[in-house]
Amino acid sequence: MHSPLHTPLMGQMMHQSLTISSILQFAARHYGASEIVSRRVEAGLQAGLQDALHRYTYRDCELRARKLAQALARLGVEGGQRVGTLAWNGYRHLELYYGASGSGAVLHTINPRLHPEQIAYIVNHAEDQVLCFDLTFLPLVEAIAAACPTVRAFVLMSDRAHMPAGTRIPDLLCYEDLLDAEDGDYAWPELDENAAASLCYTSGTTGNPKGALYSHRSTVLHAYASALPNVLNVGAIDTVLPVVPMFHVNAWGLPYSVLLSGAKLVLPGAQLDGKSLYDLFEGEGVTFSAGVPTVWLGLINYAIQNDLTFSTFRRTVIGGSACPPAMMDTLIDRFGVQVIHGWGMTEMSPLGTTGGLLAKHRALPVERQRAILQKQGHAIYGVDMKIVDDLGAELPWDGQASGHLLVKGPWIIASYFRDEGGDPLVDGWFPTGDVATIDPDGFMQITDRSKDVIKSGGEWIGSIDIENIAMAHPAVLQAACIAMAHPKWDERPLLLVVRRPGQEVGREEMLKWFEGRIAKFWMPDDVVFVEALPIGGTGKVQKNKLREQFKDHRAAQGVAGPGQARL
Ligand code: ADP
Repeated sequence: MHSPLHTPLMGQMMHQSLTISSILQFAARHYGASEIVSRRVEAGLQAGLQDALHRYTYRDCELRARKLAQALARLGVEGGQRVGTLAWNGYRHLELYYGASGSGAVLHTINPRLHPEQIAYIVNHAEDQVLCFDLTFLPLVEAIAAACPTVRAFVLMSDRAHMPAGTRIPDLLCYEDLLDAEDGDYAWPELDENAAASLCYTSGTTGNPKGALYSHRSTVLHAYASALPNVLNVGAIDTVLPVVPMFHVNAWGLPYSVLLSGAKLVLPGAQLDGKSLYDLFEGEGVTFSAGVPTVWLGLINYAIQNDLTFSTFRRTVIGGSACPPAMMDTLIDRFGVQVIHGWGMTEMSPLGTTGGLLAKHRALPVERQRAILQKQGHAIYGVDMKIVDDLGAELPWDGQASGHLLVKGPWIIASYFRDEGGDPLVDGWFPTGDVATIDPDGFMQITDRSKDVIKSGGEWIGSIDIENIAMAHPAVLQAACIAMAHPKWDERPLLLVVRRPGQEVGREEMLKWFEGRIAKFWMPDDVVFVEALPIGGTGKVQKNKLREQFKDHRAAQGVAGPGQARL
């Protein structure tokens, strides 16, 4: 025990609150001419629209964010009140990021891919006062407007020319009209750095969505740390295109970390197909990007099918679900793109770990280096982690023992918004719901989510490993491994496979592929070929839906499938 210092000698440094507006002010003043390029949402809805790309600078963005802050005040929004958004990655959404939070209100980004009833639930739970949305979501907002009594103003994020002639939304406001009415003569208020800045709900695969309420301080610290070389390594020399949506955990903090770094920012709007992304990457000279594995599938397939290469794209962070090793290999070996595997969650702002090598790994053969890069990575300063067994006892960092992963740090929630779900912490640590190993160098590897773990005869089978191996087969596009009920072993693995177009592979060949690659008792009991896997609002395979769909499935060979025969 240390004896407490009763009269500490205080540091004599200036105090400045870590606020979100300070990032924008810094960016506008010190990198004022840096560009922000956005694919207009209207471009996708109106064939042949001239200037499909909108361009302006950090300086322009800051002026418009000030006007937006004035407009929100005119709409009666007060400090701490929530401003909802249903929007793609674009410059108006970015202005809301800074204008709403910077003025003292709380930016509430909503995932438009959720079911309309869930969206209405979230808007009501957050008590949004204003709801701003892109043109794409007009029908969605028309459908839910009557069910959102707290919303005093609905704002279409567009100009007068794109306002609908008639709409069921009462008193629909036009974003550009609101800004045109203001002069920008506005000083960003000095806010308490612990005040709420933004709100993001988890996708709620089980139960109702719960909100993570980030503070100015947590957001700035996360942005600072995420720009570090060991993490995303964002610099002024970069051109960054976040494919990860701004409605999904603040696009992994990139709208903040890019601006504090001075990089050029490219926002892809609604068009996230392979061709649209490729054209934007090449046209704008994108060097760095970020997204979930499913979006990379589209881009990589487009580039391969058309025999294309990337002329500027050098680095990407992939996370949100495990990056299949085959995808990492293709990006590195075929396209020369460095892959940073990232792990985190909504409750963690979201970044917790990122992949990379240590100096001592330089001399290792490529395959060994690759195995390290495939892990979810090393803790970022600010995040501490540990793994524990079912009774809560800490497990060793030997790269073998796998246990429940717990985290703590200044950008990890202490409780959910409105204390939904009670106290989530266990002795001050947040249980992530993931199962992982940590090796002696501190590299963490996720083996599963607790709810997806397959428990066979009391032993855990890591579904992610099985999926990764399946996806390394040349005929396999996607794979998911789930538990199926078994009378003797409780659960056995069932592998669901989507074949690549025009490719053939059967059950027996697939099972043979695993021989020598996994422990025998991990061998899937059956393989089922499907057209597609259900993908949720954040681009992840919905295993709960698959479990439901295949709950009565039994192995093709009856009770004695290939797996249990060897157990
Ligand atoms: P939700 O929990 O609603 O799906 P999040 O986006 O917060 O929304 O998801 C966080 C979870 O995603 C993590 O707990 C983990 O299970 C999974 N995840 C995120 N990144 C990775 C990764 N690189 N590898 C494996 N799983 C990941």
